[in-house]
Amino acid sequence: MQTFRAGLASAHDALVGAATQWSLSEIPLETWGASAKRTLIRVSGCHPWVGVQNQPFNELVNQLATVERLLDALKWAGSAGFSRVMACHPTTSSGDHDLVVERPDQALGVFEVSDVAGPRGNENNKMANDLRNLVGCKCQYCGYGAEKYLATSSVSGEWLQRLKMRDDRMEELCIASLQFESAPEAGTMITRLTLTDSERE
Ligand SMILES: [Zn+2]
Repeated sequence: MQTFRAGLASAHDALVGAATQWSLSEIPLETWGASAKRTLIRVSGCHPWVGVQNQPFNELVNQLATVERLLDALKWAGSAGFSRVMACHPTTSSGDHDLVVERPDQALGVFEVSDVAGPRGNENNKMANDLRNLVGCKCQYCGYGAEKYLATSSVSGEWLQRLKMRDDRMEELCIASLQFESAPEAGTMITRLTLTDSERE
């Protein structure tokens, strides 16, 4: 767990290095937004864990934000007794969980990690979709009874806490509870989700 966290942190820092070396000021003013968004940042060779050659600037920013949430989630998981990382897919939308961890007694935890920008905390229905995926997941880990967690910005965490007040929505989503677990200094909120009995069976 510690080794993995250190490796991920150093990959993160190497990518930030690649992103910040690139100059935003050389782009013509009239196409600044469209160009900056697409400009390919060369990331090959910056860290052994980085497998791609180039990344569009806006994707790189999104991925770095997700990795930062993931690092907070790993830190919290360590403090909650999880000692081993079983799977981690921070930058793909492969359908697998972003993070799967295990306790020494073999209890599992799966995490959906997201960094939704915006004042509502559920822009583009990202949180609602993450919840649905987590509730309905039938993967080997969830089948084994893994605890389900969301690692989000504090704004999205507050959205989850407001959702908790709405019995109709909670029932529709088959969620029994959304337990707020922790908000480390960086402001990442960890929320545990438990399912209603009908969904669990
Ligand atoms: Zn699952």
